[in-house]
Amino acid sequence: MEKRNLVIIGSGPAGHTAALYSSRANLTPLILEGHEPGGQLTTTTDVENFPGFPEGVQGPELMIMMKKQAERFDAEYRSLTVKSIDTSSRPFTLTLENNDQISADAVIISTGASAKYLGLENEKELIGKGVSACATCDGFFYRDKVVHVVGGGDTAMEEATFLTKFAKEVIVIHRRDVLRASKPMQQRAFDNPKISFLWDSAVEEILFDETGVTGIKVKNLKTNEFEERKTDGLFMGIGHTPNTGFLNGQIDLDEHGFIKTNGGHPDTNVPGIYACGDVQDSYYRQAISAAGSGCMAAIRAERFLAEQD
Ligand code: NAP
Repeated sequence: MEKRNLVIIGSGPAGHTAALYSSRANLTPLILEGHEPGGQLTTTTDVENFPGFPEGVQGPELMIMMKKQAERFDAEYRSLTVKSIDTSSRPFTLTLENNDQISADAVIISTGASAKYLGLENEKELIGKGVSACATCDGFFYRDKVVHVVGGGDTAMEEATFLTKFAKEVIVIHRRDVLRASKPMQQRAFDNPKISFLWDSAVEEILFDETGVTGIKVKNLKTNEFEERKTDGLFMGIGHTPNTGFLNGQIDLDEHGFIKTNGGHPDTNVPGIYACGDVQDSYYRQAISAAGSGCMAAIRAERFLAEQD
């Protein structure tokens, strides 16, 4: 079995940053890139809030640059996905999708979280052309525009409220007539004159032309009537799914399935296994905060391995 000091699972901003720090610390990390190399940023276009790029940077380009930077210090990337991990004894054993096994003295999990989408036709093709799941990333492009936000939880309220900084009108579409969001977040949205609500409704179709999204077809779930509504943007606020399935219950998760880390550190319940980025963060979910936590995970892993030696 191949033996490694440190294996990093996932290759978004958290994984690349962990790779950079740990390779510069001579740990020669192996990064297993997973199904979506580069993570969520590869599905965005302009990133204007990552420091160091006064003119902004394309999401995929930023991920390529981060990877190259880590490779300069001998981080080794492989386009492979982890199927399962055995954490019962150290070194840990990772089983890959091709059934190869790798043993690792330390592991950093940076598998991210995937925004949930509705599963509508053309939805994924229209990401960056009117469909988004991140108001912080894309809200800026909707100045004086009309946008619809789907969902009734805190994410939807937060997205809707943030979008009112730019959009002239924000309509929240919720499938019930009661919000799931916390009372203060609900109140903030109700009090915002730019936000209105469409209750008991579901988006059934996205209308678009060559410029991107132009409208949506909405069904009233009580009357079964359909309505076409003009919109410049459709934001998904229906939650995120952390990519933790391969852990098979061996790492403690919170009630929403995100990895529990320990008091501001990237430590999990298993010594030698660290988590960083969106897989352990349902709150900030930003490229820069993910990168910061990747740095922390690499430093913790390096100190852990030094102590074991
Ligand atoms: P959530 O609480 O699970 O809410 C998801 C919302 O989307 C629900 O209203 C749900 O409708 C709706 N939804 C789900 N699937 C749908 C579908 N296929 N079609 C239409 N609607 C759908 O998720 P969340 O809002 O992401 O929050 C997750 C956790 O993170 C919560 O604990 C939340 O408090 C926390 N959070 C906190 C903050 C903050 O404090 N700033 C911000 C974001 C999230 P139903 O209500 O009918 O189920």
